[in-house]
Amino acid sequence: MTASTAAQAAYVVAALLFILSLAGLSRHETSRSGVVYGIAGMAIALAATIGLASRSIAATGMGLLVAAMVVGAGIGLWRARRVEMTGMPELIAILHSFVGLAAVLVGWNGYLDVEAKGAGQHEIASDLLRIHHAEVFVGVFIGAVTFTGSIIAFLKLSARIRSSPLMLPGRNLLNLGALAAFAGLTVAFVVSPNVGLLVAVTAVALALGLHLVASIGGGDMPVVVSMLNSYSGWAAAASGFLLDNNLLIVTGALVGSSGAYLSYIMCTAMNRSFLSVIAGGFGVETGPADTTDYGEHREIDASGTAKLLKDARSVVITPGYGMAVAQAQYPVADLTRRLRDMGVEVRFGIHPVAGRLPGHMNVLLAEAKVPYDIVLEMDEINDDLAATTVVLVIGANDTVNPAAVDDPGSPIAGMPVLRVWEAENVVVFKRSMNPGYAGVQNPLFFRDNSQMLFGDAKERVEDILRAL
Ligand code: NDP
Repeated sequence: MTASTAAQAAYVVAALLFILSLAGLSRHETSRSGVVYGIAGMAIALAATIGLASRSIAATGMGLLVAAMVVGAGIGLWRARRVEMTGMPELIAILHSFVGLAAVLVGWNGYLDVEAKGAGQHEIASDLLRIHHAEVFVGVFIGAVTFTGSIIAFLKLSARIRSSPLMLPGRNLLNLGALAAFAGLTVAFVVSPNVGLLVAVTAVALALGLHLVASIGGGDMPVVVSMLNSYSGWAAAASGFLLDNNLLIVTGALVGSSGAYLSYIMCTAMNRSFLSVIAGGFGVETGPADTTDYGEHREIDASGTAKLLKDARSVVITPGYGMAVAQAQYPVADLTRRLRDMGVEVRFGIHPVAGRLPGHMNVLLAEAKVPYDIVLEMDEINDDLAATTVVLVIGANDTVNPAAVDDPGSPIAGMPVLRVWEAENVVVFKRSMNPGYAGVQNPLFFRDNSQMLFGDAKERVEDILRAL
Protein backbone atom coordinates (compact mmCIF):
# COMPACT_ATOMS: atom_id res chain seq x y z
CA MET A 1 0.00 0.00 0.00
CA THR A 2 1.45 3.39 -0.98
CA ALA A 3 1.60 6.27 1.48
CA SER A 4 -1.03 8.08 -0.55
CA THR A 5 -3.48 5.12 -0.40
CA ALA A 6 -2.86 4.80 3.34
CA ALA A 7 -3.59 8.51 3.77
CA GLN A 8 -6.80 8.24 1.73
CA ALA A 9 -7.90 5.27 3.86
CA ALA A 10 -7.16 7.27 7.02
CA TYR A 11 -9.19 10.16 5.58
CA VAL A 12 -12.21 7.89 5.11
CA VAL A 13 -11.93 6.75 8.75
CA ALA A 14 -11.57 10.38 9.92
CA ALA A 15 -14.59 11.46 7.83
CA LEU A 16 -16.69 8.67 9.38
CA LEU A 17 -15.55 9.71 12.86
CA PHE A 18 -16.60 13.31 12.13
CA ILE A 19 -20.06 12.10 11.05
CA LEU A 20 -20.32 10.00 14.24
CA SER A 21 -19.19 13.05 16.19
CA LEU A 22 -21.99 15.22 14.76
CA ALA A 23 -24.51 12.46 15.47
CA GLY A 24 -23.23 12.15 19.06
CA LEU A 25 -23.31 15.90 19.67
CA SER A 26 -26.99 16.11 18.76
CA ARG A 27 -28.11 14.49 22.06
CA HIS A 28 -26.82 15.30 25.52
CA GLU A 29 -26.63 11.64 26.56
CA THR A 30 -24.13 10.96 23.74
CA SER A 31 -22.42 14.35 23.53
CA ARG A 32 -19.28 13.25 25.39
CA SER A 33 -18.69 10.37 22.99
CA GLY A 34 -19.39 12.84 20.16
CA VAL A 35 -16.51 14.99 21.37
CA VAL A 36 -14.23 11.94 21.68
CA TYR A 37 -15.06 10.86 18.08
CA GLY A 38 -14.27 14.39 16.89
CA ILE A 39 -10.89 14.45 18.67
CA ALA A 40 -10.01 10.98 17.32
CA GLY A 41 -11.04 11.99 13.77
CA MET A 42 -8.94 15.14 13.94
CA ALA A 43 -5.92 13.27 15.34
CA ILE A 44 -6.10 10.74 12.49
CA ALA A 45 -6.59 13.53 9.93
CA LEU A 46 -3.55 15.43 11.21
CA ALA A 47 -1.34 12.34 11.36
CA ALA A 48 -2.31 11.28 7.82
CA THR A 49 -1.82 14.78 6.39
CA ILE A 50 1.56 15.25 8.05
CA GLY A 51 2.62 11.77 6.97
CA LEU A 52 1.68 12.60 3.40
CA ALA A 53 3.34 16.00 3.50
CA SER A 54 6.57 14.63 5.00
CA ARG A 55 7.36 13.00 1.64
CA SER A 56 7.63 16.33 -0.15
CA ILE A 57 8.68 18.74 2.61
CA ALA A 58 12.27 19.26 3.74
CA ALA A 59 13.27 18.73 7.38
CA THR A 60 13.18 22.48 8.12
CA GLY A 61 9.63 22.65 6.73
CA MET A 62 8.57 19.74 8.92
CA GLY A 63 10.17 21.44 11.91
CA LEU A 64 8.21 24.62 11.19
CA LEU A 65 5.00 22.61 10.75
CA VAL A 66 5.41 20.87 14.09
CA ALA A 67 6.36 24.13 15.82
CA ALA A 68 3.25 25.85 14.38
CA MET A 69 1.07 22.97 15.56
CA VAL A 70 2.53 23.00 19.07
CA VAL A 71 2.05 26.78 19.39
CA GLY A 72 -1.49 26.58 17.93
CA ALA A 73 -2.49 23.67 20.16
CA GLY A 74 -1.03 25.46 23.19
CA ILE A 75 -3.03 28.63 22.51
CA GLY A 76 -6.16 26.56 21.81
CA LEU A 77 -5.86 24.63 25.07
CA TRP A 78 -5.18 27.78 27.07
CA ARG A 79 -8.21 29.61 25.64
CA ALA A 80 -10.52 26.60 25.97
CA ARG A 81 -9.62 26.14 29.64
CA ARG A 82 -10.16 29.81 30.45
CA VAL A 83 -13.34 30.55 28.52
CA GLU A 84 -16.60 31.01 30.45
CA MET A 85 -19.78 29.55 28.94
CA THR A 86 -21.03 33.12 28.41
CA GLY A 87 -17.89 33.84 26.36
CA MET A 88 -18.33 30.81 24.07
CA PRO A 89 -20.10 32.59 21.17
CA GLU A 90 -17.34 35.19 20.85
CA LEU A 91 -14.61 32.53 21.03
CA ILE A 92 -16.37 30.56 18.29
CA ALA A 93 -16.67 33.75 16.22
CA ILE A 94 -12.94 34.52 16.41
CA LEU A 95 -12.07 30.89 15.58
CA HIS A 96 -14.22 31.16 12.43
CA SER A 97 -12.21 34.20 11.40
CA PHE A 98 -9.08 32.00 11.35
CA VAL A 99 -10.77 29.51 9.02
CA GLY A 100 -11.78 32.41 6.75
CA LEU A 101 -8.24 33.83 6.74
CA ALA A 102 -6.79 30.38 6.02
CA ALA A 103 -9.13 30.00 3.03
CA VAL A 104 -8.05 33.40 1.67
CA LEU A 105 -4.37 32.46 2.02
CA VAL A 106 -4.89 29.03 0.44
CA GLY A 107 -6.75 30.70 -2.46
CA TRP A 108 -4.04 33.28 -3.02
CA ASN A 109 -1.39 30.58 -2.77
CA GLY A 110 -3.32 28.44 -5.27
CA TYR A 111 -3.24 31.30 -7.76
CA LEU A 112 0.37 32.37 -7.18
CA ASP A 113 1.55 28.75 -7.34
CA VAL A 114 0.01 28.23 -10.77
CA GLU A 115 1.26 31.62 -11.95
CA ALA A 116 4.79 30.95 -10.70
CA LYS A 117 5.01 27.75 -12.67
CA GLY A 118 4.08 29.58 -15.88
CA ALA A 119 1.69 28.57 -18.64
CA GLY A 120 1.78 24.89 -19.45
CA GLN A 121 4.24 24.05 -16.62
CA HIS A 122 1.82 23.17 -13.85
CA GLU A 123 0.33 19.80 -13.08
CA ILE A 124 -3.23 20.93 -13.83
CA ALA A 125 -4.48 19.98 -17.30
CA SER A 126 -5.22 23.14 -19.24
CA ASP A 127 -8.95 22.37 -19.62
CA LEU A 128 -9.20 22.06 -15.83
CA LEU A 129 -7.33 25.30 -15.28
CA ARG A 130 -10.48 27.42 -15.60
CA ILE A 131 -12.13 25.33 -12.89
CA HIS A 132 -9.05 25.93 -10.78
CA HIS A 133 -9.37 29.70 -11.33
CA ALA A 134 -13.03 29.57 -10.27
CA GLU A 135 -12.08 27.56 -7.15
CA VAL A 136 -9.46 30.18 -6.24
CA PHE A 137 -11.99 32.96 -6.61
CA VAL A 138 -14.82 31.25 -4.71
CA GLY A 139 -12.45 30.19 -1.90
CA VAL A 140 -11.01 33.71 -1.52
CA PHE A 141 -14.48 35.28 -1.62
CA ILE A 142 -16.13 33.03 0.99
CA GLY A 143 -12.98 33.10 3.12
CA ALA A 144 -12.74 36.90 3.12
CA VAL A 145 -16.47 37.35 3.93
CA THR A 146 -16.06 34.87 6.79
CA PHE A 147 -12.89 36.59 7.99
CA THR A 148 -14.19 40.15 8.42
CA GLY A 149 -17.73 39.02 9.29
CA SER A 150 -16.38 36.88 12.13
CA ILE A 151 -14.16 39.66 13.44
CA ILE A 152 -17.15 42.04 13.60
CA ALA A 153 -19.23 39.29 15.28
CA PHE A 154 -16.43 38.78 17.82
CA LEU A 155 -16.20 42.53 18.53
CA LYS A 156 -19.99 42.83 18.96
CA LEU A 157 -20.37 39.74 21.12
CA SER A 158 -17.50 40.74 23.39
CA ALA A 159 -19.01 44.25 23.66
CA ARG A 160 -15.86 45.83 22.22
CA ILE A 161 -18.12 47.64 19.74
CA ARG A 162 -21.83 48.49 19.96
CA SER A 163 -24.07 45.58 19.03
CA SER A 164 -26.81 47.71 17.47
CA PRO A 165 -27.17 47.29 13.71
CA LEU A 166 -25.37 49.67 11.37
CA MET A 167 -28.10 51.11 9.18
CA LEU A 168 -26.49 52.49 6.02
CA PRO A 169 -29.00 53.79 3.47
CA GLY A 170 -29.63 51.16 0.76
CA ARG A 171 -27.80 48.50 2.78
CA ASN A 172 -29.51 45.61 0.97
CA LEU A 173 -28.55 47.14 -2.38
CA LEU A 174 -24.94 47.38 -1.16
CA ASN A 175 -24.95 43.65 -0.32
CA LEU A 176 -26.58 42.72 -3.62
CA GLY A 177 -24.14 45.02 -5.46
CA ALA A 178 -21.21 43.20 -3.81
CA LEU A 179 -22.65 39.83 -4.90
CA ALA A 180 -23.13 41.11 -8.47
CA ALA A 181 -19.54 42.44 -8.48
CA PHE A 182 -18.34 39.02 -7.29
CA ALA A 183 -20.20 37.28 -10.15
CA GLY A 184 -18.79 39.72 -12.73
CA LEU A 185 -15.23 39.49 -11.38
CA THR A 186 -15.41 35.68 -11.33
CA VAL A 187 -16.30 35.55 -15.03
CA ALA A 188 -13.49 37.99 -15.84
CA PHE A 189 -10.98 35.99 -13.74
CA VAL A 190 -11.91 32.64 -15.29
CA VAL A 191 -11.48 34.11 -18.78
CA SER A 192 -8.27 36.00 -18.03
CA PRO A 193 -6.84 35.58 -14.52
CA ASN A 194 -4.73 38.38 -13.15
CA VAL A 195 -3.67 39.56 -9.76
CA GLY A 196 -5.63 42.83 -10.03
CA LEU A 197 -8.93 40.92 -10.20
CA LEU A 198 -7.90 38.81 -7.21
CA VAL A 199 -7.10 41.93 -5.20
CA ALA A 200 -10.48 43.38 -6.24
CA VAL A 201 -12.49 40.33 -5.18
CA THR A 202 -10.62 40.14 -1.88
CA ALA A 203 -11.42 43.80 -1.18
CA VAL A 204 -15.10 43.40 -2.17
CA ALA A 205 -15.48 40.29 0.01
CA LEU A 206 -13.73 41.85 3.02
CA ALA A 207 -16.06 44.86 2.77
CA LEU A 208 -19.14 42.65 2.29
CA GLY A 209 -18.33 40.55 5.38
CA LEU A 210 -17.82 43.68 7.43
CA HIS A 211 -21.03 45.35 6.26
CA LEU A 212 -23.17 42.19 6.38
CA VAL A 213 -22.47 41.52 10.04
CA ALA A 214 -22.27 45.18 11.10
CA SER A 215 -25.90 45.57 9.85
CA ILE A 216 -27.15 42.78 12.11
CA GLY A 217 -28.39 43.60 15.60
CA GLY A 218 -27.40 42.01 18.90
CA GLY A 219 -30.47 39.76 19.16
CA ASP A 220 -29.65 38.07 15.89
CA MET A 221 -25.92 37.66 16.58
CA PRO A 222 -26.08 33.99 17.60
CA VAL A 223 -27.75 33.19 14.28
CA VAL A 224 -24.98 35.11 12.57
CA VAL A 225 -22.33 33.10 14.42
CA SER A 226 -23.93 29.89 13.25
CA MET A 227 -24.22 31.31 9.72
CA LEU A 228 -20.50 32.22 9.79
CA ASN A 229 -19.85 28.70 11.03
CA SER A 230 -21.55 27.50 7.87
CA TYR A 231 -19.52 29.91 5.69
CA SER A 232 -16.29 28.79 7.32
CA GLY A 233 -17.23 25.20 6.38
CA TRP A 234 -17.79 26.13 2.75
CA ALA A 235 -14.55 28.14 2.77
CA ALA A 236 -12.71 25.05 4.07
CA ALA A 237 -14.37 22.89 1.38
CA ALA A 238 -13.22 25.36 -1.29
CA SER A 239 -9.68 25.10 0.13
CA GLY A 240 -10.05 21.31 -0.03
CA PHE A 241 -10.67 21.51 -3.79
CA LEU A 242 -7.65 23.76 -4.24
CA LEU A 243 -5.37 21.57 -2.14
CA ASP A 244 -6.83 18.41 -3.67
CA ASN A 245 -7.62 17.18 -0.18
CA ASN A 246 -10.75 15.01 -0.04
CA LEU A 247 -11.03 15.08 3.75
CA LEU A 248 -11.07 18.88 3.79
CA ILE A 249 -13.85 18.83 1.19
CA VAL A 250 -15.93 16.35 3.23
CA THR A 251 -15.28 18.10 6.55
CA GLY A 252 -15.97 21.53 5.06
CA ALA A 253 -19.27 20.27 3.63
CA LEU A 254 -20.23 18.74 7.01
CA VAL A 255 -19.49 22.00 8.83
CA GLY A 256 -21.13 24.07 6.08
CA SER A 257 -24.37 22.10 6.02
CA SER A 258 -24.66 21.57 9.78
CA GLY A 259 -24.05 25.31 10.37
CA ALA A 260 -26.72 26.19 7.82
CA TYR A 261 -29.17 23.75 9.44
CA LEU A 262 -28.45 25.13 12.90
CA SER A 263 -29.11 28.68 11.63
CA TYR A 264 -32.42 27.42 10.23
CA ILE A 265 -33.40 25.83 13.58
CA MET A 266 -32.55 29.06 15.43
CA CYS A 267 -34.54 31.19 12.98
CA THR A 268 -37.55 28.89 13.39
CA ALA A 269 -37.28 29.08 17.19
CA MET A 270 -37.32 32.89 17.00
CA ASN A 271 -39.98 32.98 14.27
CA ARG A 272 -37.60 34.92 12.01
CA SER A 273 -36.83 34.19 8.40
CA PHE A 274 -33.23 33.59 7.45
CA LEU A 275 -33.43 36.38 4.86
CA SER A 276 -34.74 38.88 7.41
CA VAL A 277 -31.77 38.05 9.65
CA ILE A 278 -29.35 38.63 6.75
CA ALA A 279 -31.17 41.83 5.74
CA GLY A 280 -30.41 43.04 9.27
CA GLY A 281 -31.90 45.93 11.18
CA PHE A 282 -33.65 43.89 13.91
CA GLY A 283 -33.55 45.58 17.29
CA VAL A 284 -33.86 49.10 15.91
CA GLU A 285 -36.65 51.18 17.42
CA THR A 286 -38.99 51.96 14.58
CA GLY A 287 -42.41 52.33 16.15
CA PRO A 288 -43.50 54.61 19.00
CA ALA A 289 -42.14 53.85 22.48
CA ASP A 290 -44.13 51.28 24.49
CA THR A 291 -46.46 53.34 26.70
CA THR A 292 -48.72 50.45 27.75
CA ASP A 293 -49.75 50.47 31.42
CA TYR A 294 -49.00 46.93 32.55
CA GLY A 295 -50.09 47.60 36.15
CA GLU A 296 -48.10 46.83 39.31
CA HIS A 297 -45.74 43.93 39.84
CA ARG A 298 -45.59 41.94 43.08
CA GLU A 299 -42.41 40.99 44.89
CA ILE A 300 -41.52 37.88 46.88
CA ASP A 301 -38.47 37.08 48.99
CA ALA A 302 -36.39 33.91 49.25
CA SER A 303 -38.20 32.53 52.31
CA GLY A 304 -41.59 33.12 50.64
CA THR A 305 -40.34 31.24 47.58
CA ALA A 306 -39.00 28.43 49.78
CA LYS A 307 -42.46 28.08 51.34
CA LEU A 308 -44.14 27.95 47.92
CA LEU A 309 -41.67 25.26 46.84
CA LYS A 310 -42.08 23.18 50.02
CA ASP A 311 -45.83 23.02 49.53
CA ALA A 312 -45.62 22.41 45.78
CA ARG A 313 -46.60 19.17 44.08
CA SER A 314 -44.68 19.91 40.91
CA VAL A 315 -42.04 22.51 40.01
CA VAL A 316 -40.74 23.48 36.59
CA ILE A 317 -37.55 25.54 36.25
CA THR A 318 -37.13 27.55 33.04
CA PRO A 319 -33.59 28.94 32.93
CA GLY A 320 -32.34 31.65 30.58
CA TYR A 321 -29.34 33.83 29.89
CA GLY A 322 -29.36 35.27 33.45
CA MET A 323 -28.63 31.82 34.89
CA ALA A 324 -25.49 31.70 32.74
CA VAL A 325 -24.45 35.23 33.78
CA ALA A 326 -24.97 34.48 37.47
CA GLN A 327 -23.38 30.98 37.14
CA ALA A 328 -26.40 29.83 39.14
CA GLN A 329 -26.48 26.29 37.71
CA TYR A 330 -24.73 24.72 40.74
CA PRO A 331 -27.14 26.03 43.42
CA VAL A 332 -30.00 25.34 40.98
CA ALA A 333 -28.82 21.71 40.78
CA ASP A 334 -28.62 21.58 44.63
CA LEU A 335 -32.13 23.02 44.88
CA THR A 336 -33.37 20.40 42.44
CA ARG A 337 -31.83 17.57 44.50
CA ARG A 338 -33.24 19.00 47.74
CA LEU A 339 -36.77 19.34 46.36
CA ARG A 340 -36.70 15.87 44.81
CA ASP A 341 -35.57 14.44 48.15
CA MET A 342 -38.60 16.15 49.68
CA GLY A 343 -40.86 14.35 47.17
CA VAL A 344 -41.52 17.35 44.90
CA GLU A 345 -41.51 16.60 41.18
CA VAL A 346 -38.92 18.90 39.56
CA ARG A 347 -38.39 19.28 35.82
CA PHE A 348 -36.65 21.79 33.55
CA GLY A 349 -38.16 23.43 30.48
CA ILE A 350 -35.56 24.49 27.94
CA HIS A 351 -36.38 26.95 25.19
CA PRO A 352 -34.38 26.27 22.00
CA VAL A 353 -32.85 29.79 22.04
CA ALA A 354 -32.59 30.31 25.82
CA GLY A 355 -29.22 31.87 26.57
CA ARG A 356 -26.93 33.00 23.81
CA LEU A 357 -26.29 29.87 21.81
CA PRO A 358 -28.28 26.71 21.13
CA GLY A 359 -27.82 24.14 23.88
CA HIS A 360 -26.41 26.81 26.24
CA MET A 361 -28.71 25.80 29.12
CA ASN A 362 -28.28 22.06 28.49
CA VAL A 363 -24.49 22.43 28.78
CA LEU A 364 -24.74 24.42 32.03
CA LEU A 365 -27.18 21.93 33.60
CA ALA A 366 -25.07 18.96 32.48
CA GLU A 367 -22.01 20.70 34.00
CA ALA A 368 -23.90 20.88 37.34
CA LYS A 369 -24.91 17.19 37.02
CA VAL A 370 -28.66 17.71 36.68
CA PRO A 371 -30.05 14.34 35.47
CA TYR A 372 -30.79 14.43 31.71
CA ASP A 373 -34.19 12.78 32.04
CA ILE A 374 -35.71 15.76 33.88
CA VAL A 375 -34.41 18.31 31.36
CA LEU A 376 -37.18 18.65 28.76
CA GLU A 377 -37.48 20.62 25.53
CA MET A 378 -40.05 23.42 25.28
CA ASP A 379 -42.44 21.30 23.20
CA GLU A 380 -42.22 18.43 25.69
CA ILE A 381 -43.10 20.56 28.73
CA ASN A 382 -45.42 23.29 27.41
CA ASP A 383 -48.63 21.27 27.76
CA ASP A 384 -47.76 20.30 31.36
CA LEU A 385 -47.25 23.87 32.58
CA ALA A 386 -50.94 24.46 33.31
CA ALA A 387 -50.84 21.58 35.84
CA THR A 388 -47.64 22.84 37.51
CA THR A 389 -47.71 24.35 41.02
CA VAL A 390 -44.65 26.60 40.76
CA VAL A 391 -42.57 27.73 37.79
CA LEU A 392 -39.19 29.26 38.62
CA VAL A 393 -38.09 31.54 35.76
CA ILE A 394 -34.38 31.85 36.45
CA GLY A 395 -32.81 34.65 34.39
CA ALA A 396 -35.08 34.03 31.39
CA ASN A 397 -37.11 36.80 29.82
CA ASP A 398 -37.88 36.80 26.07
CA THR A 399 -38.32 33.03 26.03
CA VAL A 400 -41.22 33.27 28.55
CA ASN A 401 -42.85 36.45 27.20
CA PRO A 402 -46.64 36.09 26.72
CA ALA A 403 -46.58 39.06 24.30
CA ALA A 404 -45.20 36.64 21.70
CA VAL A 405 -48.56 34.85 21.84
CA ASP A 406 -51.00 37.63 22.84
CA ASP A 407 -49.74 40.76 21.12
CA PRO A 408 -49.58 40.61 17.31
CA GLY A 409 -47.85 44.02 17.29
CA SER A 410 -44.96 42.86 19.49
CA PRO A 411 -41.51 42.63 17.84
CA ILE A 412 -41.37 39.02 19.05
CA ALA A 413 -44.96 38.15 17.99
CA GLY A 414 -45.16 34.57 16.77
CA MET A 415 -41.96 33.43 18.52
CA PRO A 416 -42.74 30.09 20.19
CA VAL A 417 -42.37 30.59 23.98
CA LEU A 418 -42.64 28.60 27.21
CA ARG A 419 -46.21 29.23 28.45
CA VAL A 420 -45.11 29.61 32.08
CA TRP A 421 -47.99 31.98 32.93
CA GLU A 422 -50.40 29.02 32.76
CA ALA A 423 -48.91 27.61 35.98
CA GLU A 424 -50.46 28.23 39.41
CA ASN A 425 -47.52 30.39 40.60
CA VAL A 426 -44.61 31.96 38.75
CA VAL A 427 -41.50 33.31 40.46
CA VAL A 428 -39.24 35.42 38.19
CA PHE A 429 -35.57 35.73 39.24
CA LYS A 430 -33.90 38.85 37.85
CA ARG A 431 -32.10 41.93 39.06
CA SER A 432 -34.44 44.68 37.78
CA MET A 433 -37.51 45.31 35.66
CA ASN A 434 -35.30 45.75 32.55
CA PRO A 435 -36.41 44.03 29.35
CA GLY A 436 -34.64 40.97 27.89
CA TYR A 437 -32.38 40.68 24.90
CA ALA A 438 -35.00 41.67 22.31
CA GLY A 439 -35.60 44.90 24.26
CA VAL A 440 -39.34 44.21 24.68
CA GLN A 441 -41.28 44.64 27.95
CA ASN A 442 -42.55 41.40 29.45
CA PRO A 443 -46.23 41.41 30.61
CA LEU A 444 -45.51 38.17 32.53
CA PHE A 445 -44.03 40.25 35.38
CA PHE A 446 -47.39 41.96 35.94
CA ARG A 447 -49.64 38.88 35.87
CA ASP A 448 -51.66 38.10 39.01
CA ASN A 449 -49.93 34.75 39.51
CA SER A 450 -46.39 36.17 39.01
CA GLN A 451 -44.02 37.45 41.66
CA MET A 452 -40.56 38.98 41.21
CA LEU A 453 -37.58 37.75 43.21
CA PHE A 454 -35.01 40.50 42.65
CA GLY A 455 -31.24 40.08 42.87
CA ASP A 456 -28.48 37.95 41.45
CA ALA A 457 -29.94 34.55 40.53
CA LYS A 458 -27.13 32.58 42.22
CA GLU A 459 -27.42 34.48 45.51
CA ARG A 460 -31.22 34.19 45.53
CA VAL A 461 -31.17 30.43 44.89
CA GLU A 462 -28.61 30.03 47.70
CA ASP A 463 -30.91 32.06 49.98
CA ILE A 464 -33.79 29.70 49.11
CA LEU A 465 -31.59 26.68 49.89
CA ARG A 466 -30.79 28.16 53.29
CA ALA A 467 -34.47 28.92 53.95
CA LEU A 468 -35.42 25.35 53.04
P1 NDP B 1 -33.00 37.21 27.87
O1 NDP B 1 -31.69 37.54 27.27
O2 NDP B 1 -34.24 37.62 27.19
O3 NDP B 1 -33.09 37.79 29.36
C1 NDP B 1 -32.13 37.43 30.32
C2 NDP B 1 -32.59 38.01 31.64
O4 NDP B 1 -31.65 37.60 32.63
C3 NDP B 1 -32.61 39.52 31.63
O5 NDP B 1 -33.92 39.98 31.65
C4 NDP B 1 -31.82 39.94 32.88
O6 NDP B 1 -32.61 40.83 33.66
C5 NDP B 1 -31.62 38.61 33.62
N1 NDP B 1 -30.31 38.54 34.26
C6 NDP B 1 -29.12 38.88 33.76
N2 NDP B 1 -28.15 38.66 34.65
C7 NDP B 1 -28.75 38.16 35.75
C8 NDP B 1 -28.28 37.74 37.03
N3 NDP B 1 -26.98 37.78 37.36
N4 NDP B 1 -29.18 37.26 37.92
C9 NDP B 1 -30.49 37.24 37.62
N5 NDP B 1 -30.99 37.62 36.42
C10 NDP B 1 -30.13 38.08 35.51
O7 NDP B 1 -32.95 35.64 28.15
P2 NDP B 1 -33.59 34.39 27.46
O8 NDP B 1 -32.62 33.30 27.72
O9 NDP B 1 -34.99 34.24 27.93
O10 NDP B 1 -33.68 34.72 25.93
C11 NDP B 1 -32.59 34.60 25.03
C12 NDP B 1 -32.60 35.74 24.03
O11 NDP B 1 -31.46 35.60 23.18
C13 NDP B 1 -33.83 35.69 23.13
O12 NDP B 1 -34.20 36.99 22.76
C14 NDP B 1 -33.31 34.96 21.93
O13 NDP B 1 -34.04 35.22 20.75
C15 NDP B 1 -31.91 35.52 21.84
N6 NDP B 1 -31.12 34.63 21.05
C16 NDP B 1 -30.69 33.44 21.56
C17 NDP B 1 -30.09 32.53 20.72
C18 NDP B 1 -29.65 31.19 21.20
O14 NDP B 1 -29.20 30.42 20.38
N7 NDP B 1 -29.77 30.88 22.47
C19 NDP B 1 -29.92 32.80 19.31
C20 NDP B 1 -30.38 34.08 18.91
C21 NDP B 1 -30.96 34.95 19.76
P3 NDP B 1 -31.92 41.88 34.65
O15 NDP B 1 -30.96 42.65 33.86
O16 NDP B 1 -33.06 42.67 35.19
O17 NDP B 1 -31.27 41.06 35.72
